[in-house]
Amino acid sequence: MYRTHNCGALRLSDANKEVTLSGWVDATRAFGPMTFVDLRDRYGITQIVFENNEVLNKKATGLGREFVIKVKGLVRERTAKNPNRATGDIEIVAQELEILNVSKTPPFTIKDDTDGGDDLRMKYRYLDLRRAAVQKNLFFRSQVAIEVRKYLSGEGFIEVETPNLIKSTPEGARDFVVPSRMNAGQFYALPQSPQTFKQLLMVSGFDKYFQIVKCFRDEDLRADRQPEFTQIDCEMAFVTQEDILNTFEGLTKHVFKTALGIDLPTFPRMTYDEAMKLYGSDKPDIRFGMSFVELNDVTQNKGFSVFDSAELVVGICAKGVATAYTNKILSELTDWVKRPQIGAKGLVYIKFEEDGTIKSPISKFYSEEDLQAIGARFGAQKGDVLFILSGETDKTRKQLNELRLELGSRMGLRNPAEFKPLWVVDFPLLEWDEETQRFYAMHHPFTSPKREQIPSMLNGDHETMKNLRADAYDLVLNGVEIGGGSIRIYDRDLQSKNFKLLGMTEEEAEAKFGFLLGAFEYGAPPHGGIAFGFDRLCAVMSGSNSIRDFIAFPKNNQGRDVMIDAPSVIDDKQLEELNIAVTIEA
Ligand code: ASP
Repeated sequence: MYRTHNCGALRLSDANKEVTLSGWVDATRAFGPMTFVDLRDRYGITQIVFENNEVLNKKATGLGREFVIKVKGLVRERTAKNPNRATGDIEIVAQELEILNVSKTPPFTIKDDTDGGDDLRMKYRYLDLRRAAVQKNLFFRSQVAIEVRKYLSGEGFIEVETPNLIKSTPEGARDFVVPSRMNAGQFYALPQSPQTFKQLLMVSGFDKYFQIVKCFRDEDLRADRQPEFTQIDCEMAFVTQEDILNTFEGLTKHVFKTALGIDLPTFPRMTYDEAMKLYGSDKPDIRFGMSFVELNDVTQNKGFSVFDSAELVVGICAKGVATAYTNKILSELTDWVKRPQIGAKGLVYIKFEEDGTIKSPISKFYSEEDLQAIGARFGAQKGDVLFILSGETDKTRKQLNELRLELGSRMGLRNPAEFKPLWVVDFPLLEWDEETQRFYAMHHPFTSPKREQIPSMLNGDHETMKNLRADAYDLVLNGVEIGGGSIRIYDRDLQSKNFKLLGMTEEEAEAKFGFLLGAFEYGAPPHGGIAFGFDRLCAVMSGSNSIRDFIAFPKNNQGRDVMIDAPSVIDDKQLEELNIAVTIEA
C-alpha cells in the first residue's frame, strides 16, 4: 500500500493514528539530530519528522528535492503550528522510509514563486505542472468544463464529436493541413471550428448540440493566441437570437455561480454601432466609464486646422488625475499614442486644474468659454483631464480605444476580480475591403442577415450590402471576447448569394461547400449557435490575461512545443509515403 492518506488530508483529530503517505520531497531541513521533510502531492504538504532513529535519520538526510518517497509513521500534534498550511497542526513521526524513486535536482524550484524563466519552465512543463499555482488553473479548467456539461445536458443538449480530418476551405484564418497517404497529392485540413458539421447536425434533427472541442488555426501568433485552442461549441434549431442569448447567458451565469460563487446580473446589450461610437471597440471593457464624446461641433471652425480638417474629433475624460498627470506624464502619454502600434499623430489634452485654471496646448485657439463648453460635454470637473484625438473616424476611434484602456489600467479601474459581461449585437453582415475590392464576412459566411433584410440581400445594390446587419452577437467580458455566434442562413439561394458576395464563383462554392448547400435542400430547420473560447473563458474568470496558463501543454509564441520539440522534420521515407517530393538544395 502506498498511502492511507494524501498529503493534504491529516488534521489534529488524526493525532496518534498510524498513517502511510507518498509524495515528492518539497524540502528537507536538518535540525540537530532531527530531520524535517516537507512531503508534497497535489493535495497539499505534510511535515515529516525523523528523530530518535539514527538509521532512518541518516537516510532522510540523503533525500534530495523531488525524490519520490513513501513514509509510514505516527500523527503527532505539532508544538510550533503553521497556520498557513491546512495540515499545519500536525506532523508525522517517521517509522519507515522507502525511496520510491530518486530525482535529479530540478532546473527550477517547484514553488509558486519559482525561479524558473518562461522558456525553462516550458521545456520542463511536467515539472512546472507540479507547482500548485499551475495545478490550480487546470483544476479550475476541469471544474468549469464539468459545470458546462452539467448545465447544457440539463438543458437537453447532446454532446457530439465531429471529425478532425476535414476539407480545407480557408476563409477566416489559414488551415493546418495533413497530407493523405492513401490519396496521393491530397490533403485534409484540421478544423478551424466544427461550424458546418454542427449546422449539419441541426439539419439531421439533433436540435441542441454542444462539444468541448479542439480547433486549429494557422495564424501568426499574437500574445494571447494558440494554434490549437478549445471551444465550447454550441448549436440549436428552431431558435431566434433571443433564445440563444438567453440560453448562453444562463450557461455563463451557471458557471460563474458554481465555479466562483459569483452571481452575475442580467447582461446588458449594446449594438455594434453603439460600441464603436462609445468605445471604439466591438469588445468594450465596461468595468469603467470614460466613454467617448464626439466634439466636432464644439471644436471645429475655431482656427485650429488639425481639428478643422478631421473627420472626427473625439475625447474621453479621466477623472481626478489633473494633479498626478504632470507635464512629464502627459508627454509620455503623447509619445505612447504616437507609437506605430497606436499610430496617432498627436494628443490634445485639456486639464481642469484643482485651482480652477484650465491648461491646454490648444488654448491659443480656444477661449476659456470654449474650453468650458468642451468640458461640459463630459461633465468635467476640477481635477479632470480630457484627452482628445482627431482624424479619420475608424482609425481615431481605434486609437482612442487603446488610450482609454491604457488610462483605465494606469488609473486602476480594471479590477480583475470584477466581472462586467455584455452582449454586443447587430454586427454588420459584410465588411468591404477597398484594397482587395471585395466583401469579407464579418462573422463567417454562414451568418444570416436580419430576417427583414433577406429580400434586400437577394436583390439589393452594392450600397445595400454594405449596410446589411446580421443576427450576430459576441459575449464580451472585461474587454475580452469570450464567445461569438450567429443565426445561420438555412436557405440554399441565400447561402449561394452570400458566397457570391464573398467573391466565390458558383463552381468554387459548389466545390467547397456543395455538401452544405445540398443539405439545405433537404429540409434544413432555422438554426443558430455560438462558440465560447474555453481557454480564454477560464483565464478571464481567473483574472488572468494569459490563456497559456490554462492549457496543460501550450505552444510558445513561435507555435513551438519546446518540450517535445515540435514541429520537427520528418524522414524521407515518411515524406515519400505521403507523396511529398523531397527537394534537397545544394
Ligand atoms: N464557429 C464560430 C467560431 O468559431 C462560432 C459560431 O458561429 O458558432 O467563431
